[in-house]
Amino acid sequence: MPNSATPTHCPYCALQCGMNLTPQQDGGVAVVERPDFPVNKGALCGKGRTAPAVLAQGVRLTSPLVRSGGTLVPASWDEALDRIAEGLGRTRTEHGPDACGVFGGGGLTNEKAYSLGKFARIVLGTSQIDYNGRFCMSSAAAAGIKAFGLDRGLPFPLEDIPKTGCVILVGSNLAETMPPSLRYFSELRENGGKLIVIDPRRTRTAEQADLHLAPRPGTDLALALGLLHLVVAEGRVDEEYVQERTVGWEEARAAAMAHWPEYVERITGVSVPQLRETVQLFCEPEHAMVLTARGPEQQSKGTDTVGAWINLCLATGRAGRPLSGYGCLTGQGNGQGGREHGQKADQLPGYRKLDDPAARRHVAEVWGVDPDSLPGPGRSAYELLDALGTDIRALLLMASNPVVSAPRAAHIEERIRSLDFLAVCDVVLSETAELADVVLPVTQWAEETGTTTNLEGRVLLRRRAITPPEGIRSDLEVMHELAARLGGEKGLEKGFPTDPEEVFEELRRASAGGPADYSGITYRRLVEENGVFWPCPAPAAVHDGSAGSQDSQDSEDASLDALAGADDPTRDAETDAPTDGTDDAVHPGTPRLFLDRFATPDGRARFVPVSHRAVAEEPDDEYPVLLTTGRVVAQYQSGAQTRRVDELNNAAPGPFVELHPRLAARLGAAEGDPVAVISRRGRAVAPARITTGIRPDTVFMPFHWPGEGRANTLTNPALDPTSRMPEFKACAVRVEAVKS
Ligand code: SF4
Repeated sequence: MPNSATPTHCPYCALQCGMNLTPQQDGGVAVVERPDFPVNKGALCGKGRTAPAVLAQGVRLTSPLVRSGGTLVPASWDEALDRIAEGLGRTRTEHGPDACGVFGGGGLTNEKAYSLGKFARIVLGTSQIDYNGRFCMSSAAAAGIKAFGLDRGLPFPLEDIPKTGCVILVGSNLAETMPPSLRYFSELRENGGKLIVIDPRRTRTAEQADLHLAPRPGTDLALALGLLHLVVAEGRVDEEYVQERTVGWEEARAAAMAHWPEYVERITGVSVPQLRETVQLFCEPEHAMVLTARGPEQQSKGTDTVGAWINLCLATGRAGRPLSGYGCLTGQGNGQGGREHGQKADQLPGYRKLDDPAARRHVAEVWGVDPDSLPGPGRSAYELLDALGTDIRALLLMASNPVVSAPRAAHIEERIRSLDFLAVCDVVLSETAELADVVLPVTQWAEETGTTTNLEGRVLLRRRAITPPEGIRSDLEVMHELAARLGGEKGLEKGFPTDPEEVFEELRRASAGGPADYSGITYRRLVEENGVFWPCPAPAAVHDGSAGSQDSQDSEDASLDALAGADDPTRDAETDAPTDGTDDAVHPGTPRLFLDRFATPDGRARFVPVSHRAVAEEPDDEYPVLLTTGRVVAQYQSGAQTRRVDELNNAAPGPFVELHPRLAARLGAAEGDPVAVISRRGRAVAPARITTGIRPDTVFMPFHWPGEGRANTLTNPALDPTSRMPEFKACAVRVEAVKS
């Protein structure tokens, strides 16, 4: 174990703030500022500062658990692994491979996400794998691929934001989700740039904006169309750019012209003068950006909604140019990398498509299997969860807590309970783990090495700082052991190394030539360069990675310390190029995409003609109000980790229902009174939080908690037809005062 500070990254959100971890006498670590990491320059939010609390005994799991007589009891690793192999193996034999499901998470490192996709397809032979990132950013990914031919959250680094002229932030509450990122927007305004925030609530982020637009939930597609209409009407289209760098403008223009401002005002509630002011602020500077987050994305028309914002950027020449562009602010810690390397239902590593014969051949060769043996695409996340207990009889779940985070959560909880067999790998006993037949306690960020890819597409190395307690193993070890048990004589475990660097070396080869090409990235470069932006191809063959030959976690610390400063005889000391002549230059990585051409066959971006349509569940007499959901600063996602941290829990101890004073008055509810929110899927109760910062026709609930205040009991699983993302952001509800 190193005895000085270890530079690493936060375990939580996609900003992946840099931090140093210093060992403490009690065997734990303390978080210390790491000013040399450019993204956050030492700043951290409360979640990052308190992350070591989840490493503590009594908070985290320390022993495998198996269900016995209806309760979970401690067991040996061998017994627990045998039970999982038996449960999955029996299901596969009796019902076929697709009766085994695998569900991953956007918090898994690239190495784990890659191995999980490979494990599902090679060891289990199932097509039924997806992950919770589907709930997070898949609409933006689908829209980005349609328009630009490539999805990378931000096609430029955050450092470009202060230098642009205007940013429209759509459905993003960065002040609560990733506070250190706000400095980029403060600097933008200090430099004279403008910030426009679009959110149905006057959030802490909206309070910092030059202009806040508060549309009805689910109408931001119409809002973007109305803005594009005005851009055309006011003669602000960049005709030369549209001519040279795009296709499809006439259809998109026609669709926008059907959304005249007064019509858009009626749909959205945003006034025509506000629409005109937005267009003026966005179009007048030389450079401008649109950034979207979960607001426009988590809709049953999320792909079209993001597409409408991209159309606005394309029509005004604000994509693929310096200091201008469209970007998605990815949410989960490895939400970006987790969507690139094969844990998605339709995907192979390197962001390749599972139904592409050439992609199948390439990856099958790396994996040493017949391409025809690879299953085809499977179900998306919600559809997979909805099939539990029917088509899918057994589930292996890593780093996800769908009992709290899935839409229509009571139904999903019931589906999980109806499984023949459930195995969960997690660091804590989450609400989903509580339902498992076997729970495996796995290592956490400070206890393991691995790469993540932040919202900018910057690949980073998290480094192990402390030795995990006895009884804890890594997810990579779990997959290795299960492959050995399920593969029998085939020796499948050889394809599942336990050393993360060895996995990364294979990931490099599997990604080579794909859209998300990591083949030119090495652990050594990640240490020396503080991260590398993909795509980063190796100009020639990918070297065989002799530095990645360690075969146990115990050797990681020494290996990485050596990498940071030692001579590697296979690489040139200055350029990092191989010395064997296979590689003649090191690719610097790609901080900025699309400057010369988009990633489409002809290099031009695609306008996608889109039109407004209503939310899947419009308010009516029975359910007259719209519910929207989101996050608070002191909790993270399903709260499985952060609800176990005293400081965070004290700051945000439970759910609440945010509502306008007019609605509260109609109900006769005062601040703090319990109110019931009822949708077609269930009922949740939480204290009222009354504020004029929300529309009178809308209520808001954060989704971090289980139990009677579980917001996702209410949410609508209506799926976007392209991205298969559920409509978390808008469903019809009735709100009632709860009589005591
Ligand atoms: Fe940074 Fe996000 Fe971690 Fe907060 S949760 S410290 S914003 S990475």
